Amino acid sequence: MGAVKNWVALQDRYECVYCIVDLHAITFPYQASELAERTREMAISLLAAGIDPERAILFVQSHVPEHAELQWLFTTVAPLGELERMTQYKDKSRRLESVPAGLLAYPVLQAADILLYCAEAVPVGEDQLQHLELTREIARRWNAEFAPEAPLFPEPQALLTPARRIVGLDGQSKMSKSLGNTIGLTDPPEEIWNRLRPAVTDPARVKRTDPGEPEKCPVIYQLHRHFSPPETVAVVESNCRGAGWGCLDCKRVLADNMAAALAPIREKAAALRRDPDALDTALADGAARASAIAQGTLTKVRRRMGFLPPRRS
Ligand code: SF4
Repeated sequence: MGAVKNWVALQDRYECVYCIVDLHAITFPYQASELAERTREMAISLLAAGIDPERAILFVQSHVPEHAELQWLFTTVAPLGELERMTQYKDKSRRLESVPAGLLAYPVLQAADILLYCAEAVPVGEDQLQHLELTREIARRWNAEFAPEAPLFPEPQALLTPARRIVGLDGQSKMSKSLGNTIGLTDPPEEIWNRLRPAVTDPARVKRTDPGEPEKCPVIYQLHRHFSPPETVAVVESNCRGAGWGCLDCKRVLADNMAAALAPIREKAAALRRDPDALDTALADGAARASAIAQGTLTKVRRRMGFLPPRRS
């Protein structure tokens, strides 16, 4: 929520390019039969949350094949040792018996996503800073090798997302769809409640009469601070420390506040789902605008790297 609010606000200050990264989504085991629908749902969530296709370019990554081509070209300068040291690669590869090469090359594709548009700034959370530094390194290496006189790629700066990071509902790792520990922006009230109910709380609150400490409640208390008014947050703090209510009562109040806060997004998303043609048109338009920039960059990249241009008939 914090990230998306930030992306919406950035539209007022920058020319923004937002990409739904379906090519990244397939680097971890996934259901092919669900990918297209998940891509649509991501587009719907972003549009419903306020990404405006009139002001920003919003498109699906695989609709602009230059992303994959530039990634391949970048693999020839990306340092293998640094890819193997990426924290996210180490975390994710630990969970897999057989590690696909795509997981290792993931940050190279990210570098292509960014540099294809010669982006000067990228909104990221702290967990993505390492990948952004690698993008800067790839830009430096490519410029030094193929364009030392007139560098083509800028070294993009991080625009750190101001929102405080909230761990997933399991209290273990960051929110991630692949770990199933998230609440969706367009989830209906009953789904929000079903997901919040089993979420971890302060382990000291075993019985209803046991006092707790909100700061030791990594998910519910932090979500209250995002979605509940200050007076409710104060009630949460006193009822938690004084065992004035049980954790289920606390979660019920949060579920109602989240459902109310997300209602406008949910309603806009429902309207978008009723008009799939309009959604496809918006994404096609975004892909056309992104392609125009991407093709211009790749033409320069191919020329600098010495490829024989195709003959146009
Ligand atoms: Fe967390 Fe609320 Fe339970 Fe305290 S009362 S531990 S803030 S869920």
